[in-house]
Amino acid sequence: MPKFYDIIVAGGGLAGLTASIILSKKFKTLLIDPDDYPRHKLCGEYLSNEVIEVLSDLGISFSRLGAVSIDRLEYTFHKKELSSLLPLGGTGISRYTLDQALFNQFQNEENATFLQGKVTAVTQYNDQFTITCGDDTFTSKQFIMATGKRSLLDKKLERPFIKTKSPWLAVKMHYDYDMPDDLVGLHAFDGGYAGISKVEGNKVNLCYLATYESFKTHKDVDTFNNKVLSKNVKLHHFFKNATACWDKPITISQISFDKKRPVENDILMIGDTAGLIHPLCGNGMAMAIHSAVLASKAIIPYLENKTDRHSALMNYSKQWNHHFKSRLKMGRWLQTILLNPSYTRIAYRLLGWFPWMLPIIIKRTHGKRVRL
Ligand SMILES: Cc1cc2nc3c(=O)[nH]c(=O)nc-3n(C[C@H](O)[C@H](O)[C@H](O)COP(=O)(O)OP(=O)(O)OC[C@H]3O[C@@H](n4cnc5c(N)ncnc54)[C@H](O)[C@@H]3O)c2cc1C
Repeated sequence: MPKFYDIIVAGGGLAGLTASIILSKKFKTLLIDPDDYPRHKLCGEYLSNEVIEVLSDLGISFSRLGAVSIDRLEYTFHKKELSSLLPLGGTGISRYTLDQALFNQFQNEENATFLQGKVTAVTQYNDQFTITCGDDTFTSKQFIMATGKRSLLDKKLERPFIKTKSPWLAVKMHYDYDMPDDLVGLHAFDGGYAGISKVEGNKVNLCYLATYESFKTHKDVDTFNNKVLSKNVKLHHFFKNATACWDKPITISQISFDKKRPVENDILMIGDTAGLIHPLCGNGMAMAIHSAVLASKAIIPYLENKTDRHSALMNYSKQWNHHFKSRLKMGRWLQTILLNPSYTRIAYRLLGWFPWMLPIIIKRTHGKRVRL
């Protein structure tokens, strides 16, 4: 296996895969991820249509993968209900299928190399990055970190967000459940909210975010589902009628929504590694893919010796802030409202009087359609 690459990407989720496909069309690219494909991942699996053309340019055919079209949102809070058309709409597809499809595209590229493993260290010397993975070391002209919400590398690089404990955990499971294909449900409960929507194969994905504070008095996920989530009438109906497809759900903890930076130590950060938007916006996957496109476009002139590294990194940083900074802010603001019952009641009343405000709020958390 070669030791030198133009680009090394750590993390083969949506961000890492997108950047790796784009860059391996021209440059020797090494993608490193600890897991083989396909694999289930914690995610609401509602993909905003803003990146649909990018994915299709990368060779993804949603109809062949059996994805469903989603264009309606239903929001519930205890017994109250609001609904809205989704301005851009979305696509329901599992990460199991989407990540595998992207990985297949990457493997078709002549300059692509995949290594199953974990990047444990990165150093920069003489304008090159040296990456450690197990007992091996590799060097590259540029390093991209796409390691998701939280990783060992964040700790190694002493990124500020890693030092604070996060009060969030998340749970995901696929079910058999009868619901319309075109609907995404966002259902609030005490201490969190759950998203329910269809993916390929007529399966329904339930994914929720909850605070430790609300979870800790309950022994396990089943008890929490029955005692807390089921107080919401829609979730009560869901748990009464849905059949779980797996033995146990996927769970993760320590989900941080703290501010991060898109460039640190000369490393390009993409996807959740650069910043995680609150899941209620249903936009993290699109942002991961879009940020990978921005980072790839910014670094290509450097790899072609047409600009210096500093200018390329500054360009990416500028683009990232332009496209995502205000969305993340809006997401933080919405989450504060959604998790405070008094604020939610006021917001619910306002939206009852002025229903046209809901699509406007949704638009503020999303971008425009993106192309490669
Ligand atoms: C509860 C919840 C619900 C959500 N629902 C939605 C939704 O409905 N729609 C939406 O658009 N977004 C949603 N999101 C957000 C979305 O899941 C993320 O924004 C998206 O997965 C980000 O992709 P990524 O490629 O940055 O990271 P990931 O997909 O997490 O990929 C990171 C990869 O890096 C690998 N890795 C980690 N450490 C290392 C290492 N040291 N070396 C090598 N590889 C490493 C990991 O194994 C992983 O494969 C949700 C998030 C949460 C928490």
